[in-house]
Amino acid sequence: DPRLEAISQAIRVVPHFPKKGIMFQDITTLLLDHKAFQDTVDIFVDRYRNMDISVVAGIEARGFMFGPSIALAIGAKFVPLRKPKKLPGKVICEEYELEYGTDCLEMQVDAVQPGDRALIVDDLVATGGTLSAAIRLLGKRMGAQVVECGCVVGLPEVKGQCRLNGKPVYILVEPR
Ligand code: 5GP
Repeated sequence: DPRLEAISQAIRVVPHFPKKGIMFQDITTLLLDHKAFQDTVDIFVDRYRNMDISVVAGIEARGFMFGPSIALAIGAKFVPLRKPKKLPGKVICEEYELEYGTDCLEMQVDAVQPGDRALIVDDLVATGGTLSAAIRLLGKRMGAQVVECGCVVGLPEVKGQCRLNGKPVYILVEPR
């Protein structure tokens, strides 16, 4: 797809952010480039429009920047998966490993029903820990069918294997 090169170029690489040794893939510059941002959303929409997706779940915070546009275009509801203690009402939580310690993603239980067909969206997949927690929330915990995970950026290792917890992962570009 000829649009992918421009999408990749629109993502700024910031060395040593948020700490030394990390090459941070900054997607905020992609959001500033209307054409590249539109193309990014369009590629996902073209892929998922006929897959009978009923829910798009976006991972805080950068999954919120792509997920809702995709949900609106394919006629699905949008559900935010958030860091702990942000969501009111009854929530379920799944932990995932960080470099030091663990964190947790929460989802409101009444947002998703068994039988929902889910697309999970985030900006970037590295180890896959965050996406795995999201897959457990929707699949194992709520009984939804996780159709696929869609990410703008993914490491070549993930891109090669293309599966996480048995679920396919669709990636647009590799980190630069
Ligand atoms: P994983 O759980 O796959 O190791 O890490 C993915 C999560 O960390 C995603 O939610 C993603 O937003 C965030 N993340 C890690 N590294 C980067 C990066 O270089 N750029 C951006 N934009 N997000 C990152």
